[in-house]
Amino acid sequence: MMDLTAIPLYDHHCHALRRPGAALDGAAFRRHFGESRDPAMAAHQSSGLFYGRSLRDLAALLGCAPEEDSVLAARHRQPPEAHARRLLDAAHVVALLVDTGFRGAENYTLTEQREFLPCPIHEALRLETLAERLIAEAANFDEVEDAFRAALADVRARGILAFKSIIAYRGGLTVRPRTRAEAAAAFPALRERAVRDGRVRLTSRPVLEYLLRVGLEAAAVQELPVQFHTGLGDADLDLRRANPLRLRPLLEEAAWRGVPFVLLHCYPFVREAGYLASIYGNVFLDLSLTIPFTAHGGEAAVRAALELAPTSKVLLGTDAFSIPELFYLGALHAREGLARALTRLTAEGWLTPGQAERAARQMLCENAAALYGG
Ligand SMILES: [Zn+2]
Repeated sequence: MMDLTAIPLYDHHCHALRRPGAALDGAAFRRHFGESRDPAMAAHQSSGLFYGRSLRDLAALLGCAPEEDSVLAARHRQPPEAHARRLLDAAHVVALLVDTGFRGAENYTLTEQREFLPCPIHEALRLETLAERLIAEAANFDEVEDAFRAALADVRARGILAFKSIIAYRGGLTVRPRTRAEAAAAFPALRERAVRDGRVRLTSRPVLEYLLRVGLEAAAVQELPVQFHTGLGDADLDLRRANPLRLRPLLEEAAWRGVPFVLLHCYPFVREAGYLASIYGNVFLDLSLTIPFTAHGGEAAVRAALELAPTSKVLLGTDAFSIPELFYLGALHAREGLARALTRLTAEGWLTPGQAERAARQMLCENAAALYGG
C-alpha cells in the first residue's frame, strides 16, 4: 500500500478546539465520535468501528493500553495545550482553515490557538452565524443587510479565506430567489424572538436564502470560495434535503460561475457531488467527516468521488472539532483511505504509480492551497 505520511494535509475544513474544562469521562469523550444526540445511543457508541479503532490508534501514539480508561488517563496526564500540539504534530497538518461558527463561546479563539499549535491558522466565516449575531443587534432589516455586507467585504485582509454556509441544516439546499421585501418581512418576528430568548436561531427561509445570495455576491467580487455543508454533518439536518443535487438551480446562475463551491462531507451523496464536480468547473468536493466517521467506508468514498470527479476537484480534511484527537484521527484516516483507494486503482490500471502519487498530493494539499491560498 502507498505510504502517504510524508505528504502534509491542508486541513481546509475543521473547527476550533474547546478550552480546557473538567476532565472528560468516557461517555463525554465518546460523544465526539458520532453525530447522535440521542442519549440511548451512548450505550452503543463504544461498539462503533471508528471508535474501537480510534482507541487503538491513540494508544499507539500515546504509548498506553488500547482501552478507553488508559487513553483518557494518558490525555489528562499532559497539559491540554501540549497534548493538542503533540496530536497536531502527528497529524502532519500544513495549515488549518477553521470554521469559527460552531460552539464559538466554549472554544479557544484563533489567536489563542496560534500560540500553541504548530501550523498557520486561517478562518472560514460562517454566514448564518454572522447573520444571527447581526439580527440580534439590529433595529431593522436594512441595518442587518448593511452590516452583513460590510462584514463580508475585504475579508482576506482579516485572514478569512472562505465563506461557509450551513443552509443545508436550516431546511435544506433548495435555494429559491428571494426579494429583499420578503426577507425584510420576516425580520420583526425574528427580532421579537431574539429579544425574548436572548439569541437568534435563524430558520426563516426568506432571510436565509436572501442573505446567502448577498454572501455569494461578496464571494464573487473577492473570488472567494464558499463551502456548503452537504450530506451528513449535524444532528439537526434532514438528510433527504441535504443532497447537493438540490444546488443545481444556484449553480446554473451565471453570477456565481466565478465562485468556487466546495461541497463539504457529501456522504451518502458522494457520487452526486462527484457528478456536480465533473459538470461545473467551479464545483469541488470534500470528504472530511465522511472520512473518518464511515470507518472502512473511506476507501469506497474516495473511489466513488473519483468515478467522475477529476483528482484536481477532490479535497480531504478532518472536520475535527473540540478535541485534538479528531485532528490526528481524521488526518490518519484521510491518508489511509486515500492510500488504499489509490493503491487499488493503480493495481486495476486506472492510474500509473506516478499519477497516484500526484493525485495524493493534490487531494491532501495542493487542491486546497490553490483554492484558498494562505
Ligand atoms: Zn464541520
